[in-house]
Amino acid sequence: MSSKRILIIEDEKPIREMIAFGLRRAGFEVAEAQDCRAGRTLLVDKRPDLILVDWMLPDMSGLEFTRQLKRDTSTRELPIILLTARAEETDKVAGLEGGADDYVTKPFSPRELVARINAVLRRATTDVAGEVLEFDGLHLDQAGHRVVAGDRAVILGPTEYRMLEFFMTHPERVYSREQLLDRVWGGNVYVEERTIDVHIRRLRKALEEFGYDRFVQTVRGAGYRFSTRAE
Ligand code: CA
Repeated sequence: MSSKRILIIEDEKPIREMIAFGLRRAGFEVAEAQDCRAGRTLLVDKRPDLILVDWMLPDMSGLEFTRQLKRDTSTRELPIILLTARAEETDKVAGLEGGADDYVTKPFSPRELVARINAVLRRATTDVAGEVLEFDGLHLDQAGHRVVAGDRAVILGPTEYRMLEFFMTHPERVYSREQLLDRVWGGNVYVEERTIDVHIRRLRKALEEFGYDRFVQTVRGAGYRFSTRAE
């Protein structure tokens, strides 16, 4: 298993470096940002598995940043741990209501932080693994690796399955071929972009007899989108 990527957003350099050092030593890949703006860029570039965000930041509060990410369907599933120097219970409540998955109060030990990160990551993985996704009668059971239309099984190859799973967890959003390669095949494989079109065709063909091929939509000049709405 490849190591998990953590994005740290913290404006105080010594603290950020101390956290980064502890996390790298624990086997995580780490990206560092000094404010939310830089954090947003790294979110796209590094695709972290979890974000540690400080509450007090120069451009936006960590709480507001958390709220924004949890409102956006493309980042809603991303686990977030808020860091704060304040220990008041009201802050904790506000943080969790804002959508943070956990809350760590400064000062904390690297060991404590790693334990909290691992707990949140474990929870995030279990949630996803047990989920059955459903759109208009098309079911995808992530735990059983099965796709069912009404009461009939949809037979898919492994790549088409992964593609459909990705689409169903990221609906109503356009992805370029390059993004699909990255997200469905994983970043470091060499696959030609037109290979995507082949798998899209196969996926549509498998869904066609159930009438669900219309969900896999071509967006001219941009890529593909999974949507239950008309094109
Ligand atoms: Ca700060």
